[in-house]
Amino acid sequence: MDLKTLVSDSRGIAEVLSKDSSVVTHSAYVASAQAYLRKCADQIEKLQAVLVKSKRAHYYCEDPWYSCPKALDGCLDESAGKDCNCGADEFNAEIDAAMETQAASAAVI
Ligand SMILES: [Zn+2]
Repeated sequence: MDLKTLVSDSRGIAEVLSKDSSVVTHSAYVASAQAYLRKCADQIEKLQAVLVKSKRAHYYCEDPWYSCPKALDGCLDESAGKDCNCGADEFNAEIDAAMETQAASAAVI
């Protein structure tokens, strides 16, 4: 599941535990689990915000011969092709992949 679902599920589990005392009878454990899950959800949301802000722009140089082909004004060196050569696409794809990371729900609980 993606991080958005992980956050939602964590909050959902915390809510179930607060409403249905038959799920777990040890109240101290329930309170601890709720606090943990809410803290996890908060941390994941902070992480998501940081990840989105950390995406990189393509390399731009005042001499457009050296700019990445995908930079705002492109690259004058036609031999550079049309693909990103500055690493921004690869880096941003890793961020997108991290945002969509599959995780087992059971691992959260
Ligand atoms: Zn680039």
